[in-house]
Amino acid sequence: KKRPIILGNWKMNKSLKEGVQYARSLKAAIAGKTWIMCGICPPYVFLKDICAILEGSTICVSAQNMHSEASGAFTGEIAAPMLKEVGCSHVLVGHSERRHIFGEDDFFINDKIKKAISFELVPILCIGETLEEREAGNTKDIVLRQLKNGLRGVGIELIKCIIIAYEPVWAIGTGRTASPEQANEVHSFIRTILSEDYGKDIAKKLSIIYGGSVKADNTEALIHQPEIDGLLVGGASLELESFLTIIEVVQ
Ligand code: 13P
Repeated sequence: KKRPIILGNWKMNKSLKEGVQYARSLKAAIAGKTWIMCGICPPYVFLKDICAILEGSTICVSAQNMHSEASGAFTGEIAAPMLKEVGCSHVLVGHSERRHIFGEDDFFINDKIKKAISFELVPILCIGETLEEREAGNTKDIVLRQLKNGLRGVGIELIKCIIIAYEPVWAIGTGRTASPEQANEVHSFIRTILSEDYGKDIAKKLSIIYGGSVKADNTEALIHQPEIDGLLVGGASLELESFLTIIEVVQ
């Protein structure tokens, strides 16, 4: 199996002081654990301080979002080169909260993906169906559409720079995790599509991570699924102790 990826998405939580303290303690706790790729996604305004703390460690810092343009009159937005300049290596793109609360569509998300890559940020393309879509039997259609549209124009050379995150919307913040088998089935479907578009070898190497009510007690079952290469943790990453427990389980 590949090196598992464990990312903590803080969403709109924590004070700067708490974030900085968390980053310091995480750095100390993770030191030397090179067999996992661990990262955190703090709010924009904490990124510079947290990147400085984590510089030289194996912990990646990811932004939670970015704009699709590199600069310009987009009041309130943040561009890829700004994220790069403060030390981010990764960026979440198309998180379900961006899609559903803020109305981001596949085309905007696709532009962001391409822009992130052009500034050497690793985009984490988030896709996933709503409860309604799952119950109507449309999971695969939705995932296919979000994946194909999200990756439009991303060729064989660039796909290697991308991480895919499957986050069923009905499992986010609800305490209702997809069963390991349900998650694995969609991951396997995603990999099949990637194989068709980019070839089997490349698809095999790509990391597809799962998010949605990941907790210490469901981590083991999820990470042992053959198609799940890592986890994107929301609520359970907010307390350092619980995030570290998840990391322990993955090891
Ligand atoms: P929860 O782990 O709180 O369900 O959030 C998942 C998520 O959206 C991570 O990006």
